[in-house]
This record gives sequence, structure tokens and C-alpha cells, in this order.
Amino acid sequence: MKIVMLGAGYVGLVSGACFAEFGVQVTCVDPDEGKIKRLHDGVIPIFEPGLDELVAKNVAAERLSFATSLSKCAPKVDAVFIAVGTPTRRGDGHADLTYVYQAARDIAAYLTSDHFTVVVTKSTVPIGTGREVERIIREANPAARFAVASNPEFLREGSAIGDFMRPDRVVFGTNSEEAAEVMKSLYRPLYLLETPIVQTTLESSELTKYAGNAFLATKITFINEMADLCEKVGANVQDVARGIGLDGRIGKKFLHAGPGYGGSCFPKDTLALVKTAQAVGAPVSLVETVVAVNDKRKKAMAQRVIAAAGGDVKGKKVAVLGVSFKPNTDDMRDSVALDVIPALQKAGAVVQAFDPVAMKEASKLLPEVHWMKDTYDALQGASVAVILTEWNEFRSIDFDRAKQLMAVPVLVDLRNIYKPDEVEKQGFAYSSIGRGKISG
Ligand code: NAD
Repeated sequence: MKIVMLGAGYVGLVSGACFAEFGVQVTCVDPDEGKIKRLHDGVIPIFEPGLDELVAKNVAAERLSFATSLSKCAPKVDAVFIAVGTPTRRGDGHADLTYVYQAARDIAAYLTSDHFTVVVTKSTVPIGTGREVERIIREANPAARFAVASNPEFLREGSAIGDFMRPDRVVFGTNSEEAAEVMKSLYRPLYLLETPIVQTTLESSELTKYAGNAFLATKITFINEMADLCEKVGANVQDVARGIGLDGRIGKKFLHAGPGYGGSCFPKDTLALVKTAQAVGAPVSLVETVVAVNDKRKKAMAQRVIAAAGGDVKGKKVAVLGVSFKPNTDDMRDSVALDVIPALQKAGAVVQAFDPVAMKEASKLLPEVHWMKDTYDALQGASVAVILTEWNEFRSIDFDRAKQLMAVPVLVDLRNIYKPDEVEKQGFAYSSIGRGKISG
């Protein structure tokens, strides 16, 4: 089979490489010439574990290639996937569909009347987008033989390849039997692994992605509020999370209390769902609350650091460990670091930060930060250190060395990667999330 993947970002490049690994002939198209040039040179533009080997292997096998426009691709493919960005639209919180609709116009010019092609939205798009993509193509190229399908992607950055190759499920929606057959053929290797496949309508498929992300964001926000309560009443949120998570109806995942969710998906997708629901007159007030609670939480995190530093960080060095929105990615989109670091700087702190892979991306967004070469470099002279991202290498800090380097041994662990008594035994003042102590 042959497909084109429009967009060579986190989703397009990973999905393209994985489909190639399934034996499909894939061309990844992206108008970003720099990105395509790097890919031609064998350089992967994003950090994703295992992706460089997978791309190299499939390029060498001539199953995976790259181009800067659809017009440069060979015609007559089985499917064109749209995997372009759908960021938050400035000003109103809706999903910005500019790139999706441009992709639809590009596809219209590419399709022919003598070959059937499925146009698949893999991007996360609001309900109704698939139908609008169909209308745009139909209007621009009435003779084209095509049908539209929705096939939301559920991979997680940092474990994207494994998630694509061994997903919990595949969801696709289409109103065309011919399109459904193509989708089944493309995912045949996963059928063979007995992966559950949910086949539905366009609208149900589009909503499934938003509903899934909103549910996970709600779970995180719920445990974060329990964490705040734990701090007041002397309970331990990790014990509470374990206690409830072992209930099969609740499940253990997404019950880690922290500084609030960030990243390239949850913030924009929860907001877009809220906006769609309001627009159709069926407001999702629970999700509206989740969005508001999470925004407030992220903004409040800098105060925890300031409080741990004695209430004032003016002129003090603050060591920030980790800036990507989660470990194993260099993605900075809506990372909590983008709330915490500017707030600390506004309070007068000198921020010296280290992240194993995200510093290049982060330095474009946080120009005033002193970027350090490793954890201990960042700790030099600091009055407080804060763990923002739970990279593995922050899990085994040499506390003796850290104490000697820091001006004051204070650690704020916003990811709960240490045990309070362990750190305190090393002579550190330690604060974390939701592990309250009742004194006396
Ligand atoms: P990204 O920003 O990393 O990549 C998008 C790419 O699309 C960019 O390289 C851009 O140059 C390219 N592009 C823009 N217009 C184009 C066009 N007309 N033709 C071809 N390429 C074009 O975005 P991403 O993180 O890969 O996300 C893509 C979509 O997948 C979004 O809707 C996102 O919500 C969804 N998604 C993302 C993740 C994730 O973890 N990143 C997971 C699941 C779903």
C-alpha cells in the first residue's frame, strides 16, 4: 500500500515511520524546508526515543521518503493522512484549523478521478472538521474520487513508537465502506495482534479523541486537588492514589499529583472541547472547571518555590531541573516551566536551568534563563532547587555534592520523585506535592 503523511512533526513522522515499518510505502510531506532537508540528511528534527533508528531503517529499505510538497509525490496513493498542527486559535480558545484546511486544499489539487484515495484526519480536530475537509475538496475538485475518514492518534511523546505499534486500541470513523476497507488494510498488522479496533462515524471518532484527553486531564486535576487537601490534613497523596487506583474501576494511571498538566495536547484539547460544547449549546462544565483549576495551579507553582526560599527570591539564584513538559521529549508546548520560570524571574530570581534535551527549544521561549551544562552546574550558588520534569537523571542526585554547591540546601520537588525523610536526612529542607505533615 502507499500513503502520504502531511506533516512531519511528532505525530506525522512517528506514524509515517511506523506505517513504513508495517511495510507501507510512505512519503512524509512538510512545507518546512529546513525540516525536510535535515530528514534527507538523516537528522531527526525532534527528540523521540528510537525514532532515529526506525527512520534510518525504513529510508534504507526505500519504504520511507520525504518531500516539501504534495505536488512532488507520485500520484495514486491509498490514503493521504493529515497530521498537521491544530494549536489553540489566538483570542478565542477554539482549535486553529488553518493548517488542516490548507492541507485539504493541497489534497484537492492532488487527487484524481481515476483512483480512489482516503483522506484521513489524524490531527486532533473538532467535530465537523472531517465534513468540512470533504466539502473543501469536493468544491475544489468535483471529479476527485475520495472519501474522508477520521483516525485520531493516541501516541504519547516519549513512548510514541511503542504506543503506535502496540496501541490500546485504534479508532477510526468514516461513512464510506470503501474507505473503511482501506483503513482496515493499513492497520492489518495490528488486527493480527488482536488490537481492539473501534470503527464508528466521523463525528464519534472526532469526539472520542477530545473525550479521552478531557477525561485524563480531569483525572490529573482530581488527584492534584486531593494533594492540596492532603497537605492541609496531614495525608499522603501517593498513598491515597494507590489506595484508590487499585480499584479496577478507577485504575492506577494518571493519578500522579504534580504541578498541573501541560504539553502539546491536554491544554489545547480541553479548551477546544469546552469551546465546541459551548458553541453547540451543550456546555461541559466539568471540563471548564478542570481547565480553570489547572491554569490556576500552574500559575501558583512559582509561589511554592518562593515560599521554600524564605518568601523572597530577589537577587537569589534558583536552580531549575527539567523544563520539557514531561521526560523523554524536547517538546516545550504549554510546559509548566513556561509559567514557573517567568514568575520566578518577575520576583527577581536569577534562574539557572538544566534539561537533558529540551534546552535548545526552551532557549527560544525563555531567553533570560542561564542554561547550564548539567544538574550540578545548575545547582552552583542556588538558594533553592526545583524539579520541574521527572527526568531519570534527577532521581539520583548526589546530595552531599549538591549541598556543597548550593548557597542554601532547599529542594522543591514538584514531581514527588523523592521520599521526604530521605532528602531531609541529607540536611535539605524539602517540599513536595500532597505529602502533608501534621506537627505536634
Ligand atoms: P507538530 O507541530 O510537531 O507538527 C506539525 C507539522 O505539520 C509541522 O512540521 C508543520 O510544518 C507541518 N505542516 C503544516 N502545514 C502543513 C501542510 N499544509 N502540509 C504538510 N505539513 C504541514 O504537531 P504534532 O505534535 O505532530 O501534532 C499534530 C496533530 O496531532 C495535532 O492535531 C495534535 O493535537 C495531534 N496529536 C499530537 C500528539 C503529540 O503527542 N504531539 C498526540 C496525539 C495527537
